[in-house]
Amino acid sequence: MSLTANRSKRLGLFGGTFNPIHYGHLRTAEEVVEALGLARLWFIPAALPPHKMGPHITSFEMRLEMTRLAVGKHPRITVSDIEGRRAGKSYSIETLRQVRLEMGQDWELYFILGLDAILEITTWKDYAELFTLCNFVVLDRPGYDRSQLEAVLRREVDPRCRPLPGGTGFQHASGYKIFLMSTTLMDISATRIRRLVGEGRSIRYLLPEKVRRYIITNKLYQ
Ligand code: ATP
Repeated sequence: MSLTANRSKRLGLFGGTFNPIHYGHLRTAEEVVEALGLARLWFIPAALPPHKMGPHITSFEMRLEMTRLAVGKHPRITVSDIEGRRAGKSYSIETLRQVRLEMGQDWELYFILGLDAILEITTWKDYAELFTLCNFVVLDRPGYDRSQLEAVLRREVDPRCRPLPGGTGFQHASGYKIFLMSTTLMDISATRIRRLVGEGRSIRYLLPEKVRRYIITNKLYQ
């Protein structure tokens, strides 16, 4: 991946429901920080996730706390409550605008999301505009096909999206890039963890022990 800008001002934004956070998220974050030389990466739990607002969703405060427990002390990775400080549904477009406002123009922003999520990008608010605000990092996920991404980008986002050399991703007409990244593939999902808890089965080693204990103590997902 050839990146030339000032590494000391690269900020990764890793949004999600994190209900709960697991090793799939954590190891990926670590590898993205290292590969892109990010100065900082923020996990951003959605306060009111527009796509996952079932009646039983775990509260924002609990998901935030589990994310904090999982990250612990890390020199570059932290947890942001930015979406909890805003009323209404947690739209990424609004978060991006807010981060830009708070951090200023000289930070290079990298919005991190899984291939599963970007293939459904048309369900996001103002999705085409998202790509005019920052770079994207798209993570492979087991069971999802990279080759579908180009069609989605050109058909739904901007027909001028063009492949970067070496199959490393795409460039948007705005100049921002959409990088494809293969991190250690872990077929772990929060859905499966919730289901295992519901069935009274073990979730040990799928997520940090502190988070497992938090789930048990607070009787989540039962
Ligand atoms: P759920 O099963 O409830 O849909 P999830 O495990 O996919 O949840 P989210 O909080 O929705 O977790 O994910 C946040 C982001 O992390 C998304 O962009 C998703 O694609 C990505 N992600 C989730 N699990 C993994 C994984 N195992 N490896 C890499 N990325 C992941």
